[in-house]
Amino acid sequence: QHYLKRIEQLDGSLNSYITVTAESALEQAAAADARIAAGNAGPLTGIPLAHKDLFCTQGQRTSCGSKMLDNFISPYESTVTQRFLDAGAVSLGKTNLDEFAMGSSTESSFYGPTRNPWDTDRVPGGSSGGSAAAVAGRLCVAATGTDTGGSIRQPAGFTALTGLKPTYGRVSRWGMVAYASSLDQGGPMARTAEDCALMLQVMAGFDAKDSTSVEQPVPDYSASLSDSLKGLRIGLPKEYFAAGLDAATSDAISAAVKQFQALGAEVREISLPNAELAIPAYYVIAPAEASSNLSRFDGVRFGYRCDHPADLTDLYKRSRAEGFGAEVKRRIMVGTYALSAGYYDAYYLKAQKIRRLIKNDFMAAYEQVDVILCPTSPTPAFKIGEKIDDPVSLYLTDIYTITANLAGVPGIALPAGFANGLPLGMQLLGPYFSEARLLNIAHQYQ
Ligand code: GLN
Repeated sequence: QHYLKRIEQLDGSLNSYITVTAESALEQAAAADARIAAGNAGPLTGIPLAHKDLFCTQGQRTSCGSKMLDNFISPYESTVTQRFLDAGAVSLGKTNLDEFAMGSSTESSFYGPTRNPWDTDRVPGGSSGGSAAAVAGRLCVAATGTDTGGSIRQPAGFTALTGLKPTYGRVSRWGMVAYASSLDQGGPMARTAEDCALMLQVMAGFDAKDSTSVEQPVPDYSASLSDSLKGLRIGLPKEYFAAGLDAATSDAISAAVKQFQALGAEVREISLPNAELAIPAYYVIAPAEASSNLSRFDGVRFGYRCDHPADLTDLYKRSRAEGFGAEVKRRIMVGTYALSAGYYDAYYLKAQKIRRLIKNDFMAAYEQVDVILCPTSPTPAFKIGEKIDDPVSLYLTDIYTITANLAGVPGIALPAGFANGLPLGMQLLGPYFSEARLLNIAHQYQ
């Protein structure tokens, strides 16, 4: 009731939720009370959460921030949200996002932009900006997000949260609407690393319904939070601290380095030599996969359908023309072009080769250091409207986050301080399945 009241009071301005499921939230809360009374509760029983509106939730609208799915009531539950239901967590509703998770500011949503609680003239980041604003504004305790190219870590950085993108395959993608399937990964967004550990404990694990989910045991993420950082080797990639990085963020990370050293870590410079190729490679691969994934929205089986179609071709054309927003159409066109005969080798195949080079850079780095410390974005949160008419300038803000998705490695964003009242973010990237270590390091720092 406390959170529902805050949503009522504050979300008119923040616009962090697309759908608030007050009635079912109160029912779930009552069931959680009963479970607690029966002595059969887990750590998340009764905890009010919110889910990015990209996770299918049975019997509820799952819009993906798009007019295309404004009328879509999901007939099934995603694995991630089902696991939270099984844990007894309460879902307050579904949070706003860039349309189909394509964006870095939550401005491309059909439901209007979300505002950053730290400064409501600014974006909360994206695409999981609704989840970020809801947690930062205390409109839920913690939330789920998804990260295809930074969409958990960048909004966490813009709103002073901790957000974890797990190793690709650690969290099931079943029932998470696909954007770029080889990059998408769900994860937690919360106030602390400790909360993220509790969330990930529920989310992580093998799922027979997702062929890319990995059959590997899930460690106890809370058990190692207090481990010492003595002897930890931290690498600073020199390519990430070059021109273009905001001075306050750079200073905040230097201060963090000193704190890590005081905690017993050794810090050294490393190199990720192909880092500058990440944006062009990502913005070929992600749209290519998106153009294929989004072909299912045809106006026939579910979602938006145009009025009075003249014939089948007219139905397809107008349903998609009217149902998708400008950024989604741009991605579909770029992706279709990159995959078309004659261009496939020049763009898609080339991008895949660059992807492998970027992965190799990480593998070489992890022979010298245990984790990599770097910024989450070149600047703190920017103003609403500032970049919306210049997609390339928006794409460039993803420079520090998308390499982890291309390589499939995990990353945790954590608060690095404030400048002029705005949160600054930083992230730690680790080898495959190093989530427990990343949470431990973030927890020790906090
Ligand atoms: N900003 C990136 C994009 O627009 C990443 C989005 C995401 O991680 N979902 O594709």
